[in-house]
Amino acid sequence: MSLPEDVFAAGVVGAGGAGFPTHKKLAEGASLLVVNGAECEPLLASDRYAMRQFADEIVAGASKIAQACKIPRVVIGTKRHYAREVAALRQAIAAAGAPIEVFELESFYPAGDEQTLIYEITGQTVPPGGIPIQVGIIVVNATTALNVERATRGIPVTRRFVTVTGEVAHPQLMDAPVGTTAEDLIAQAGGATVGRYVVVKGGPMMGKQFPMSAAPGLGYGKADGGLVVLAADHPLVEFCSQPMDRVLAQTRSICIQCSLCTEMCPRYLIGHQMRPHRVMRSVGTDTHPVDLSDALLCCECGICELYACPMGLSPRRMNVYVKGLLRAEGVGVADKAVHAGHTAERDYRRIPTSRLVERWQLTAYPDHLEECAVLEPPKVVIPLRHGVGKPSSPTVSVGDRVASGDLIAEVGVGDVGCLVHASIDGVVAEVTGDHIRIERS
Ligand code: SF4
Ligand code: SF4
Repeated sequence: MSLPEDVFAAGVVGAGGAGFPTHKKLAEGASLLVVNGAECEPLLASDRYAMRQFADEIVAGASKIAQACKIPRVVIGTKRHYAREVAALRQAIAAAGAPIEVFELESFYPAGDEQTLIYEITGQTVPPGGIPIQVGIIVVNATTALNVERATRGIPVTRRFVTVTGEVAHPQLMDAPVGTTAEDLIAQAGGATVGRYVVVKGGPMMGKQFPMSAAPGLGYGKADGGLVVLAADHPLVEFCSQPMDRVLAQTRSICIQCSLCTEMCPRYLIGHQMRPHRVMRSVGTDTHPVDLSDALLCCECGICELYACPMGLSPRRMNVYVKGLLRAEGVGVADKAVHAGHTAERDYRRIPTSRLVERWQLTAYPDHLEECAVLEPPKVVIPLRHGVGKPSSPTVSVGDRVASGDLIAEVGVGDVGCLVHASIDGVVAEVTGDHIRIERS
């Protein structure tokens, strides 16, 4: 089989969060392959673990992509202060004799945003609303490269590394079957240390918050590398859970149009016309309507509301809100030119990750985790959607006996979606439009 066929058969998706099906990226015509090892969300260390322990497979996966897609240059982007990971990667590259470069980034947020990473490495701006291949670049996450390498050996994606941290007794890395529930991940970490909490699926900046009552049914997918338990009254929880009508009212009453949200926006700083202050102004008043499609360029990193805004407002949430309205009307990203405005000041506006950690009272939690526990939970709740794209269609029914690695849900090869495999041996206990639950036999 060809590499894209192997990757499709193994159900590989982007492991960094977005979950884009990897086989859809693997076409000829790129001049550069970037392996994203920046892992910029505070507290998360899943990709770091992969780079430390499986550097040889990541290098082999990147080499196979470059060879299959005839890409002449490969760069692994990771952070300078990930010294052991950088050393492991360089050693693996030397051992393989692979012509792969390592690009060492400063520790800033969001260094792992793929368009920011491309700008750091090449100085190029991906067109607003566009994708990297438009500038001849393919980006894959480091753990994705590992999964690609395994796909060439016929190994489907049935497990992933998850960082479990925050208000748990023993924060740790876990090697868990896909579909392991938040409840089982938290239990393995010694349980929550607070009575009322929320589960953040992903990192604290961009992750989605769920109530603790959701934990038993909250299965971790192929793109979910972080679980952060935060007390229900943690400032980050209270800020992100404000009702939308209050967010709107605050926007209308106290946005001072200082434009700091725009000045600090990482997408604006690489030349995109992403100007959240204009969205805020337009939503806040009827007298200054602007082209709200700026909001469609937002990557939802949260810098504008978690760091920039002096009034404690929520431009990110406003962008998400406006995006929903525009998409409902079928409005897409109009042709937008790249501006050169503030890119010269960009070097001074990169946010040190440590500042975000301090500002949002996350200093009590470890910023590095060493050991990885292998978790074998009693059941898994495997999502049918692992990121962008369509959900997969189940191929099993309640009562079927399955073994780890068996195909349980499928999509067409031309679809934006992925095949899904059983991640434990057991019996199918539930099939819904959202997930397949398997209980260990
Ligand atoms: S930083 Fe805050 S106050 Fe200033 S323009 Fe943006 S949303 Fe308004
Ligand atoms: S969340 Fe805010 S800072 Fe981040 S891209 Fe969107 S507007 Fe810019």
